[in-house]
Amino acid sequence: MTLTPLHPPHVAAQVEEIPLRAGDGTLLELRRVTIDNDARPAVLLLHGHGASSEMFTVPGIRNLVDVLLDAGYEPWLLDWRGSSRLPYNEKGPQFSYDDVALYDIPAAVDTIRARIGGQKLFVVAHCIGALTLSLSMTAGLVPGLSGVVAHGVFLTPKLSSSARLRATFGTELLRTRIDTIPSDFRKVGLWSKYTPVFAWMSRRSPCSDPTCAMLHGNWGLGGSLFVHDNLDLRTHDRLADLLGPAPTWITPHLRRVELAHAVMRWNDYDDRYRVLPENALEHAHRIDTPLLLLSGSRNEAWFDSNKLCYDVLTTRNPELDVKYVEVPGYGHLDAIIGRGAALDVFSPILTFLDEQT
Ligand SMILES: [Zn+2]
Repeated sequence: MTLTPLHPPHVAAQVEEIPLRAGDGTLLELRRVTIDNDARPAVLLLHGHGASSEMFTVPGIRNLVDVLLDAGYEPWLLDWRGSSRLPYNEKGPQFSYDDVALYDIPAAVDTIRARIGGQKLFVVAHCIGALTLSLSMTAGLVPGLSGVVAHGVFLTPKLSSSARLRATFGTELLRTRIDTIPSDFRKVGLWSKYTPVFAWMSRRSPCSDPTCAMLHGNWGLGGSLFVHDNLDLRTHDRLADLLGPAPTWITPHLRRVELAHAVMRWNDYDDRYRVLPENALEHAHRIDTPLLLLSGSRNEAWFDSNKLCYDVLTTRNPELDVKYVEVPGYGHLDAIIGRGAALDVFSPILTFLDEQT
């Protein structure tokens, strides 16, 4: 399986594509981005569910890969099994976030470490990428990272009450008829079973594009996925490339973690997952690396989950090195793909990384 990048990063960069087998044999993809032969600290970037590593290489703006390269770091892009560049959201065995934490992230970290020798390894993780990373870390599966940036959510997921209701009831109803919620209206057309869903999502959308309406509405889950005005027009017109269909069968795990306001293991009766903690928050003491919790002040996907995480960790685990930065004026996804993210959001990320190197 060879995946062609939609957007080649940085004009002078070399991209090495590394097919990666997760711990259970699932084929993933890892890309190493280099710009010279210098030994640089490595930074693994983890995308959100339904997005892909392309969210870090968006053209037309100064994207995170460009910024990291210019600052002396070596970006590594993982497409874990929830990537829109991979087929698993729509085909193949259904998975839970346990699989990502147990099989995908540790395999990527091990592979990178084998390639970079003694160089430092950081992780910058967005949304579900950060949530699943928290499960890997508290299971002790990725020890010795040099620093972690978790954007939007980490150990304490929290949705709005309306999103919680939709996750509990609406998606259950939807689940009986629809396995995935599509994102691209051009592929759905006017005469599909999905058309009423797009029409419903367009009611309160800030713009008339039905694809944008679906994605802005977080595939129907509630809240908004991004602050519309923060997107460059070219990025706005690429939303269907950046975000794919969302599987409805993942919502029971999502609902479990949200109801607990803590990252919870899904597979309680399967010994293969026994290594994962039942409740990751209860095992926060296993975190062995400096942590930056980052969130936009207008995040309607996870609200103040990361502020809550900071408050809980500094109270319960004062021995941990945890910082919290809230970026004014940003929502969720626009904090990574927004036209001003390089200045407003990536600067505190670089400051944090530089402090650890
Ligand atoms: Zn729009």
